[in-house]
Amino acid sequence: MTVEIKATDTLVVGAGQAGIAMSEHLGKLGVPHIVLERDRIAERWRTGRWDSLVANGPAWHDRFPNLEFADFDPDGFPGKEQIADYFVAYAKKFDAPIRTGVEVKKVVRNVGRPGFTVETSDGTIEAQRVVVATGPFQRPVIPPIAPGPDRITQIHSADYRNPQQLPEGGVLVVGAGSSGVQIADELQRSGRRVYLSVGAHDRPPRGYRGRDFCWWLGVLGEWDAEVMKPGREHVTIAVSGARGGHTVDFRRLAYQGITLVGLTKSFNDTTVTFEADLADNIRRGDENYLSLLDAADAYARRNGLDLPEEPEARIIGSDPECMTHPLSELDLVKAGVTSIIWATGYAVDFNWLKVDTFDEKGKPKHQRGVAKEPGIYFLGLPWLSRRGSAFIWGVWHDAKHIADHIVTQRKYLTHYDTPQRHVEDKRVESVESAPDESRVGKVSELGVN
Ligand SMILES: Cc1cc2nc3c(=O)[nH]c(=O)nc-3n(C[C@H](O)[C@H](O)[C@H](O)COP(=O)(O)OP(=O)(O)OC[C@H]3O[C@@H](n4cnc5c(N)ncnc54)[C@H](O)[C@@H]3O)c2cc1C
Repeated sequence: MTVEIKATDTLVVGAGQAGIAMSEHLGKLGVPHIVLERDRIAERWRTGRWDSLVANGPAWHDRFPNLEFADFDPDGFPGKEQIADYFVAYAKKFDAPIRTGVEVKKVVRNVGRPGFTVETSDGTIEAQRVVVATGPFQRPVIPPIAPGPDRITQIHSADYRNPQQLPEGGVLVVGAGSSGVQIADELQRSGRRVYLSVGAHDRPPRGYRGRDFCWWLGVLGEWDAEVMKPGREHVTIAVSGARGGHTVDFRRLAYQGITLVGLTKSFNDTTVTFEADLADNIRRGDENYLSLLDAADAYARRNGLDLPEEPEARIIGSDPECMTHPLSELDLVKAGVTSIIWATGYAVDFNWLKVDTFDEKGKPKHQRGVAKEPGIYFLGLPWLSRRGSAFIWGVWHDAKHIADHIVTQRKYLTHYDTPQRHVEDKRVESVESAPDESRVGKVSELGVN
């Protein structure tokens, strides 16, 4: 059964974890709203990741506060399908008013009256407010140095699924954040010759003194850091929950058979050149790793925590040959490399959002998600309010802040503009107070049931 929606107070665009968290908070505070999702709930977890992907954090951590992963070891790492199922169950738990299969194509501010006109693939909606929850990682980015695609298969990590998908032969993986490292590891274990191009990175230990790094970053206040340290804009984080979770150790990857190379600099036909920065990048990663051990030890001391000592965690192995004698260039064809995987990150795409809240580079202007354009909100972006903002555990708290802001704004409007609010609320009522049956219909229509 379809419920026709012509107007709502708050329209949430996207039903990933951000849209679902937003809906929960809005619902709790009594704000009429609707969530529009162009695909399915948590689609990116289902089809936008490689097959073997598991969460980078344990199940006790990478979740919302009000629901645990059912029948799952809290210290284990759920797979991508389990994460998607979790969000579907979460949305069902509070009967989130989500409509799937509806794309928001355009949002424009109304002239001479409040709110926005929203064009969707299923008609036009009036909304007083719009929360943009379309994801931190929307558009795969491949740097302009990429060679022409004719001789070598090239894909972004967003399109990588499994080793069998690639033509036979070696693979160059460019980028050694969590995606690049995990994909390179999987390819090498499947019997491929793998070159991994390593730039600046952090690599926290998977666990230390019996506690996962997610716990350490939490108690040390790192997830709550409000601003990125200067010069860290291009520093990625290399962690892995694969095979039960382990510390990313580049030297170990090298001894396992992966050839580490420096930052990818340029291509000339089939020859790729690398910066001479591999050893420096790895040593800076070591420093980051050791600094977390230091901070953890200091925390344990200060708080009198009786945690098992782990001196062996401080042992850094010897440098492999590829680090001491790094390749400055590689002829990909001669080396038998037939594919390049660009694990080089993502950008956002707000072309459909025709409002005045972007800087000259197209970056959203906002404060903790409250956009410069009144009535527009962003949620789920990296560093929206803190380091954890783009992650499962962080987005829920940002959503709470935005819901509070929306309620405050509605309160101001209600005080003096009651007639106007009354009209709006009546229009909204036809959507929001649909009888229970239609609500259930709406939910199953969305694929929540
Ligand atoms: C490889 C990878 C691994 C990750 N692992 C973890 C992890 O282990 N733990 C963790 O906490 N985080 C992880 N993240 C980060 C983050 O949790 C995910 O990126 C997550 O998907 C972000 O959720 P979101 O709801 O903000 O955005 P998305 O999941 O991207 O959801 C946005 C939704 O909006 C929809 N949408 C977009 N545009 C429109 C439109 N115009 N109209 C209607 N709908 C639209 C999309 O279809 C999508 O479903 C990972 C990210 C990546 C890339």
